[in-house]
Amino acid sequence: MNIWQKYVIPHSVEEAIHILTSSPGTALPIGGGTDLLLEIQQGHHPPVQTLVDVTRIPDLLRLEETGAHLFIGAAVPVKTITESALVRHHATAVAEACGLIGGPQVRNTATLGGNVAHALPAADGMISLFAFDAQVEIASPSGRRLQSIQTLFKGPGKSALDLSSEIIVGFYLPLRRPGQSSAFSRVMRPQGVALPILNMAVWMERDEQVIRDIHIAFGPSGPVPFRATQVEQELIGKTPDAVTLQRAKSAIHQSIQFRSSAMRASAAYRHHLSEVLLEEVIGKAWQRAFELEAV
Ligand SMILES: Cc1cc2nc3c(=O)[nH]c(=O)nc-3n(C[C@H](O)[C@H](O)[C@H](O)COP(=O)(O)OP(=O)(O)OC[C@H]3O[C@@H](n4cnc5c(N)ncnc54)[C@H](O)[C@@H]3O)c2cc1C
Repeated sequence: MNIWQKYVIPHSVEEAIHILTSSPGTALPIGGGTDLLLEIQQGHHPPVQTLVDVTRIPDLLRLEETGAHLFIGAAVPVKTITESALVRHHATAVAEACGLIGGPQVRNTATLGGNVAHALPAADGMISLFAFDAQVEIASPSGRRLQSIQTLFKGPGKSALDLSSEIIVGFYLPLRRPGQSSAFSRVMRPQGVALPILNMAVWMERDEQVIRDIHIAFGPSGPVPFRATQVEQELIGKTPDAVTLQRAKSAIHQSIQFRSSAMRASAAYRHHLSEVLLEEVIGKAWQRAFELEAV
């Protein structure tokens, strides 16, 4: 028995929105289906009558420089993102995060739009976009708007999107300038559990021997994705030497209450890992700030 009644493949954003809003019963967008289909099949999702496949819409498949930004379409498979020279140069952390999602089969179909719309606070692609303060292009019946990724989440599995009438078109990230870099890392149980014990992404601007600016995102560290601004403040204007890193690690403990989870790890272990990951991603980004080759 089908777990949906109708599967529709629109070829434009407007057509997708029209189908979502005019179909009887519940209609939802679907990207690779690696989250949604499992949830429906396993009974963790209310029944869906119509699935609107967004993976043949040209606007959502763009991956290009536009003006001062890198645009990553919401339906680009994460495998393509991780292999893209443009993404590796301008948004190394996003390429690294996408390269760690699932295994090869999942990466062939999973999309960044699905990773973000699913709204889990530790989703790897989404945490990497957080470090870039990505702007999300959203299409709705009243047109298109840009919204900061930081305002897109309401709770675990709950985004501010209305999926009965809205779709993510893609993500705008600032193009990398000299002195800027990024890095992503995570600690994961062996495959079979889809989300990491802890992940971390950093975007950095280096000015000779000091960090001029830095964004740090962690997951999971609360009900919604998190920018560690208190930790960032300990690093801005400083050289990331042992003393500065120790202060930044202390700021993690002051600002984040990690949760114990039966499936993944205790809060104490996550605290420990946060220090290890912080040192790793800052070290990588610091080196890369001067090392990355031009495309
Ligand atoms: C074996 C396995 C391993 C996994 N490992 C990881 C992992 O390591 N890290 C990780 O982060 N995730 C992991 N996942 C979860 C999943 O693969 C990712 O979250 C993936 O990016 C989801 O993308 P999708 O295109 O398959 O989303 P879908 O399942 O198609 O959709 C997910 C949600 O997003 C909505 N949606 C999809 N596209 C859009 C759009 N353009 N606009 C608006 N809403 C949209 C859907 O309606 C649905 O609510 C794993 C999953 C599996 C099955």
